[in-house]
Amino acid sequence: MILHSHLDSWLETRRGLTDSLTGKSIGFVPTMGALHAGHVSLIERARRENDVVVLSIFVNPTQFDDPGDLAQYPKTLETDLEMARKAGCDHVIFPNETQMYPDGYRYRVSENELSKTLCGAHRPGHFDGVLTVVLKLFHIVQATRAYFGEKDFQQLELIRGMVKSFFLPVEIVPCAIVREGDGLAMSSRNTRLNHVDREHAPHFHQALSSATSAAEARRLLKEDGFDVDYVEDIAFGPSARRFGAVRMGAVRLIDNCEVQL
Ligand code: AMP
Repeated sequence: MILHSHLDSWLETRRGLTDSLTGKSIGFVPTMGALHAGHVSLIERARRENDVVVLSIFVNPTQFDDPGDLAQYPKTLETDLEMARKAGCDHVIFPNETQMYPDGYRYRVSENELSKTLCGAHRPGHFDGVLTVVLKLFHIVQATRAYFGEKDFQQLELIRGMVKSFFLPVEIVPCAIVREGDGLAMSSRNTRLNHVDREHAPHFHQALSSATSAAEARRLLKEDGFDVDYVEDIAFGPSARRFGAVRMGAVRLIDNCEVQL
């Protein structure tokens, strides 16, 4: 596994790959680190489906609307590298902010519909930051396929839309949500939950998936002591999904599941 803490090192390797690996596929998994089994499932899938697997670790400041959340975001680089190696990663890119934003974020991508709803309505500018960094990473890596978790379903939809709108030559591969044994969707932020909140957190998924309507899920969660940002049902083609976000102290959790409307 080759580590690239400076983008120039990767870009040089990338040029070499183009020369020596013509016709080989590259699978790309972008993350913010603090890896868990959810991330590993993406890396393993990329490993099965591509000749070369690239992982990026970058805690992207432009997608944080809350400076406290950015400061508290868990950083576990040593463990991440070990997990990436075990999962079969070939290259890990972990650039810093100056390398990723040579323009100081003067140039950015924005979307004006879906990104204003759900998480976007509660986190101003969040999806502009996500789309901008993902577009940069796509250009840097030039992957055949990029792997994204359905845990962040709204993000996945927005990235699919960006790829279509800008004719980006990459295939987006959606990956199922990986959950803890008690149903809580795995997330890097789960490690910030205190013991009591961690015990209580699985009720979030239970209420989302068992309620017969978004309104009922909202009511159940409020009665159960959650600070609810939103619960909404949205139709996607023939199926519908229920999206939710709650706060437990300083930690914000999101989840979604398929529902029958
Ligand atoms: P993050 O590091 O949280 O930005 O996530 C990096 C990628 O891993 C995103 O595509 C996420 O959707 C995906 N991911 C995070 N948690 C999970 C999970 N529990 N199951 C599946 N994918 C996940």
